[in-house]
Amino acid sequence: MRKKNVVLEKVPVTAYAAEGKALARQDGKVIFIEGGVVPGDVVDIRLSKNKKDWAEGKATHIHTYSPQRVTPFCEHFGVCGGCKWQMLPYSLQLEYKQQQVVDNLQRIGHLELPAMSPILGSKYSTQYRNKLEFTFSNRAYLTDAEIAEDGVIPQRNALGFHVPKLFDKVLDIHTCHLQQEPVNQIRNTVKAYALEHDLPFYDIRAQQGWLRNLVVRICTTGEVMVNLVIHYEDEPARKALLDHLLATVPGITTIVYTINPKKNDSIFDLEPRIYFGKGYVEEKLEDFVFKIGPKSFFQTNTYQGVTLYQVTRDFAGLTGTEIVYDLYCGTGSIGIFVSRKAAKVIGIELIKEAIDDARENATANQVQNAEFFAGDVVDICDDAFFAQHGQPGVVITDPPRAGMHEKLVEKLLQIAAPKIVYVSCNPATQARDLALLSKMYTVKKVQPVDMFPHTHHIENVVLLEKKLLASEK
Ligand code: SAH
Repeated sequence: MRKKNVVLEKVPVTAYAAEGKALARQDGKVIFIEGGVVPGDVVDIRLSKNKKDWAEGKATHIHTYSPQRVTPFCEHFGVCGGCKWQMLPYSLQLEYKQQQVVDNLQRIGHLELPAMSPILGSKYSTQYRNKLEFTFSNRAYLTDAEIAEDGVIPQRNALGFHVPKLFDKVLDIHTCHLQQEPVNQIRNTVKAYALEHDLPFYDIRAQQGWLRNLVVRICTTGEVMVNLVIHYEDEPARKALLDHLLATVPGITTIVYTINPKKNDSIFDLEPRIYFGKGYVEEKLEDFVFKIGPKSFFQTNTYQGVTLYQVTRDFAGLTGTEIVYDLYCGTGSIGIFVSRKAAKVIGIELIKEAIDDARENATANQVQNAEFFAGDVVDICDDAFFAQHGQPGVVITDPPRAGMHEKLVEKLLQIAAPKIVYVSCNPATQARDLALLSKMYTVKKVQPVDMFPHTHHIENVVLLEKKLLASEK
């Protein structure tokens, strides 16, 4: 059974595993399965890894479909990399996410858990994103059916999403359910105009073509920002296209464009220019207003962003006297959100531009008790820094998927704040970090929040309280 190229037949899928994989057990082995299968399916699996206790593979055939499956609502399901869990009812997605959190904290973290509150589901399970980035490509992903049609090659230009694992192929999107209108209208109008006027879609292999990306932000305030990314300046063509967009689609409040002559798609080292409107949008969380420019980071699901921050603020349990450290603070949104209940907020973030935004956001919201520092948290959080800014009453930490650096965890153990609120987008690394912190801290509360319906991504908030030392008891 340790040979390669093994195909296991008619295996019942029993559970979900991390990263959207499903799980089966056979002959005492755990098998991780890719390929869009769900618990309750019976499938054939071609193994790609085959170890003593576990194996990994891809489902090649589904014999029996789980009775719990539902019909996906999107025409692009199956090829598109977004919304991959549409075949599960939302209530079941939430159950699996909750289970993932428990599994990670118990199996990786070996933590004793308090009674857990049920995951907070998203009020909107579609049209919940405030930002999407579409890619122009002259290499559309074609389905077998499209290629087979009378041997005629259909339209090769596409405006949509990269197809997972195929770096040069883009899936042409007709309707995306991740954002509210007018976003589909904006994308389809730009594409139709570009096709009609023979504007060159980007060729990622040859590094040629004019149109590269279309980024759309839509806020709960109703503001809509379009950022058109082009390979080089062509003023008459750019103006004609953007004027056509403005004249055709109502509701766009600002348009910027960015010239990207580089090989990579990132716009962070480029300067977007304003074509129409104020060049940014404003988003509201409770009564806090955040200015979001083309390069700013912001929680992509605003509705659940508020919920996540409310949980965080609630867990912090501030009384007005505490110094709060907001580690990995991005544009300062958590710190600003809790600032009225804190004596002082100290925010730390790697990206300098995000810190500039954080300071601006604090000023715009009349927050005078927050200071923000740009740099690596590991470097900034030294003894001198804590001595200068004060002993934290609460540390809020919201690291990226990789979790916290071990040195930072050690520092937190040494600083020994009474409370730590750990916001995580990856329960596996969170569990690892919590295990290290459990030397000194007890897990008091756990609250998963679903930020990304129809995907396997999980957000989880944990409250840690410092254990009483024998002398303190
Ligand atoms: N708390 C913020 C952002 C969280 S995303 C919010 O709710 O909006 C995680 C952030 O950590 C990102 O902004 C990323 O730039 C930052 N980051 C990643 N590694 C870092 C490091 N070593 N030091 C400081 N910040 C870091």
